[in-house]
Amino acid sequence: MNTIENKRLKGKVAVVTGASSGIGEGIALAMGREGASVVVNYNSNEEPAQELKKKIEAAGSQAVVVQADVANPEDVARMFKAACDNFGTVDILVNNAGIQRDASFLEMTLEDWNKVISTNLTGHFLCAQAAAKEFVKRRVQHEERKAAGHIIFISSVHDIIPWAGHVNYATAKGGVQMLMKTLAQELAPNKIRVNGISPGAIKTEINRSVWENEGGREGMLTLIPYGRIGEPEDVAKVAVWLATDEADYITGTTIYVDGGMTLYPA
Ligand code: NAD
Repeated sequence: MNTIENKRLKGKVAVVTGASSGIGEGIALAMGREGASVVVNYNSNEEPAQELKKKIEAAGSQAVVVQADVANPEDVARMFKAACDNFGTVDILVNNAGIQRDASFLEMTLEDWNKVISTNLTGHFLCAQAAAKEFVKRRVQHEERKAAGHIIFISSVHDIIPWAGHVNYATAKGGVQMLMKTLAQELAPNKIRVNGISPGAIKTEINRSVWENEGGREGMLTLIPYGRIGEPEDVAKVAVWLATDEADYITGTTIYVDGGMTLYPA
């Protein structure tokens, strides 16, 4: 039973970006259920973020809803200030916000390219830097702590599998992979752990146009040896575990939550 005493993230503060839908929503709720106080970030869809806050509170944890565009440095600074003002500090960042703007390479506009790179890569850099600055400050104040903080990047199987028609997305995710590894190396002396979760096909808004019709679902399933499309909870469970001290010696690693999708050649 998940009593208050054995909640695995009790006393921790988590910032989850893009938390008003899909994988981010699943992670924010799972972390709240495990006792974390959660900063529920959204960019443009406030209502589901407020609903999520209520669900986290109903599970016995605290939550605050913060509007911020992760690609905007002032918004990011405001979000982390809100986290510290409300909960005193930050322990966990889940860099989840992401978008697709698909087009064939020959037709992709610079706007499509820049929008995806700025949200999916630069946005993750900005949030990671804001979180790491807070973690380093705490490290000085709480030298005895095991880990001073955790950063989890939600990447994609397309950080290693090329994806024709999605060059902006695949390039951003490839960048996230190297951002994650370099930060893991650079921040390890500060006792900051940095890891990635790379989902395969998870049923959310981002790919609704594919899974909501039978042909699309069947096409997806041909790519998944495990024979089912993933759910946000599949990713959320792994994110919770990575943020606990059970994963204390893990940094610089990517966990592919993909039903075996990466086992097939591209
Ligand atoms: P989603 O569309 O439901 O969630 C993305 C969230 O990011 C939305 O809530 C959106 O409002 C938010 N967002 C977009 N731009 C933002 C910005 N500038 N600032 C703040 N928030 C912003 O889709 P999802 O599948 O839950 O996607 C979450 C993450 O998972 C993304 O990074 C995506 O690339 C990744 N991912 C998803 C899948 C999948 O199959 N669903 C697979 C691999 C990776």
